[in-house]
Amino acid sequence: MQRPFVIILLGAPGAGKGTQAVRLAAARGLPHVSTGDLFRENLKLETPLGKQAKGYMESGWLVPDELVLDMLFARVARPDCVRGYVLDGFPRTLPQAQAFGERLGRIEPIVIDFVVRDATIVERAAGRLTCKACGNIQHARFAPPRVAGKCDRCSAELVQRPDDAPAVVTERLRVYHEQTQPLVGYYQTAGVLRELDGEQSPEAVFRSLMGLLPPQEAA
Ligand SMILES: [Zn+2]
Repeated sequence: MQRPFVIILLGAPGAGKGTQAVRLAAARGLPHVSTGDLFRENLKLETPLGKQAKGYMESGWLVPDELVLDMLFARVARPDCVRGYVLDGFPRTLPQAQAFGERLGRIEPIVIDFVVRDATIVERAAGRLTCKACGNIQHARFAPPRVAGKCDRCSAELVQRPDDAPAVVTERLRVYHEQTQPLVGYYQTAGVLRELDGEQSPEAVFRSLMGLLPPQEAA
């Protein structure tokens, strides 16, 4: 049997990781494990870990990495993760990556770096138009509305989300370069990094991504 693996997607916010993570998980029949979702789930279900996290938050403290890791490893100990899983939103800092690695055991990390230039990310976000009514997403340049300013699907008004404003995107990229980009070197040194050209179309990115993974075992 193939060694179980965890797929870690690295890349700047807006590089397209989230969408590809969901697609990849579905295509390979692997669970998609998002630490953000796990966090919300533990809080909502008031699990012992969720209660601990709530205690930190109510005291105005950051939730320690160890606690996030406890939630993560409680999740991936479930039987659906026995062949592996796709990790989303984690690790984001070098200490997180190190602590995660220490607890991985015999699971092999496969790290994919979505390489996209900052200018591309800013351009994608700046042109993104979101429908106020139905949530449909269009783009001034790549998916222009048939009628200016109106949603193709429901004709309601298209707006730019505050999150997509260039100043906000630029700040997110600054934080990424400072905190998360060092992971690229870290995983490169560990010999588990694979680079992916994230400037391609989403379809081409998906094909490249599948090509970087180990062949699927016959069931
Ligand atoms: Zn709409």
